[in-house]
Amino acid sequence: MNPDEPEADETTPEEEEWQLYATAGYAAAEDPWDDLVEVEDDEDEEEEWFDGDDFETNGQTLDWDSPPCPAPLGIAHMIRLGTCNHCLHRVGGRRTEEIGEKGGASIRAEAFARDKELESYEAPDLCPLCENLFEDVDNIVERIVEQTGELDHGSLQVGVHVPKDLIQEEDRIRTRHAAPGSRPLKAAFSEAVQTGVSARMEGVEFVKERPDLMILIDCLTLRVDVDIRPVFIYGRYRKLDRGIPQTRWPCRACRGRAEGCEACEGTGLQYPDSVQDLIGEPFRLVLSAEDTSFHGMGREDIDVRCLGRGRPFVLEVKRPKVRRTDLEEVMEAVNSNATGKIEISDLRWTNRSEVSRIKETRAEKSYTIRFSVEQPPEESFIVDSITKLSGVTLEQQTPKRVSHRRADKNRKRKVVSIDNVLVEDNEVQFSVRCEAGTYVKELVHSDEGRTVPSVAGVLESPCEVIWLDVEDIHAD
Ligand SMILES: [Zn+2]
Ligand SMILES: [Zn+2]
Repeated sequence: MNPDEPEADETTPEEEEWQLYATAGYAAAEDPWDDLVEVEDDEDEEEEWFDGDDFETNGQTLDWDSPPCPAPLGIAHMIRLGTCNHCLHRVGGRRTEEIGEKGGASIRAEAFARDKELESYEAPDLCPLCENLFEDVDNIVERIVEQTGELDHGSLQVGVHVPKDLIQEEDRIRTRHAAPGSRPLKAAFSEAVQTGVSARMEGVEFVKERPDLMILIDCLTLRVDVDIRPVFIYGRYRKLDRGIPQTRWPCRACRGRAEGCEACEGTGLQYPDSVQDLIGEPFRLVLSAEDTSFHGMGREDIDVRCLGRGRPFVLEVKRPKVRRTDLEEVMEAVNSNATGKIEISDLRWTNRSEVSRIKETRAEKSYTIRFSVEQPPEESFIVDSITKLSGVTLEQQTPKRVSHRRADKNRKRKVVSIDNVLVEDNEVQFSVRCEAGTYVKELVHSDEGRTVPSVAGVLESPCEVIWLDVEDIHAD
């Protein structure tokens, strides 16, 4: 596993720990390894057989043939290596009254009682299994409590970064000498931190995915970072006014720098309003958040209204200090602030997975479009010709107006239906339902022949779009 990734296999309940020992056969009051003491004598005899697979530490040759914990010889070996009490409890595989440091201390005391010489043995200061990391648990818990105290914290996830060489060394020693089923360093450390935090903060819950707060601990620097995860709100918006972009649009002159410029009157924005901010700002304030992202199910041009049931969206509220609020109340605040501009409805809490659903949904859309005809033919001819476009498949080359940001290509889009064709002097209006991704303005004016067939084409006269409204997005 990538050490930067949050630990995925953490478990908290103590029963779990006992279960591990139980599966390994050590839950019984009687220690099945106790009768292996004679091995010690054999070892002494076999010492000359060593073929170099041993190493020097603290001037002492280690014996790789010593049995693993929880055999008394295994525990003695771990003590000689300089294992700290916390790790001794973790790898010893012995049942103790208490856990953690205290549990390890009692395993050590038992070992000393068995072998007086062990007590006088001079072990290295630094535990080879954790480099005394467990001594920092209280310190880290303190930092976590400090940094999360003011935050809304329904659920927490702990991610621990341990230096790779320590992980490898710990794994090597544990694999050879620890009791089967011993917790690896990262999991055990993370567990110790969680236990410490639980004791200090009420109602805190630790999870393995989708936390409210992600706690990242760097074991090398002891740095603690708290990543406040965003909250997501689903809804639908209606855009009642033309001239409002869907997302915040930075000022062209100053490129949206924070202090703005003369052209944007210090706002940093090209347009003072956006659907994103009209909805997002009230939420940002209520949730004491830093910023928002806006994810719409497609988008309409700035000069296009969006009516009917409105367009589905997901608002992402970033780094919120508060995670829950009354959605109805905020909805009313948004709607009264933005009267005549936008209107929202159908709000509910959601999660990140709905962002991709919203982005990937290819919904058919219904529009009303109004345009002028330069040389209008007979009214009945106009109505007939436009109605005949119902059901056709359009060949659309990427429109010139978007060609600076989209690849030039041809695509086919179906006109599902056309009705309500209305003629008033040289102005015509009709309703059209079409496939997702149809360029509707181009269906009318043909974009100099880049869309075929088109209204301008069948009327054999240039047409100019006056306005366009989205009437419905056929989704959700
Ligand atoms: Zn240790
Ligand atoms: Zn500006």
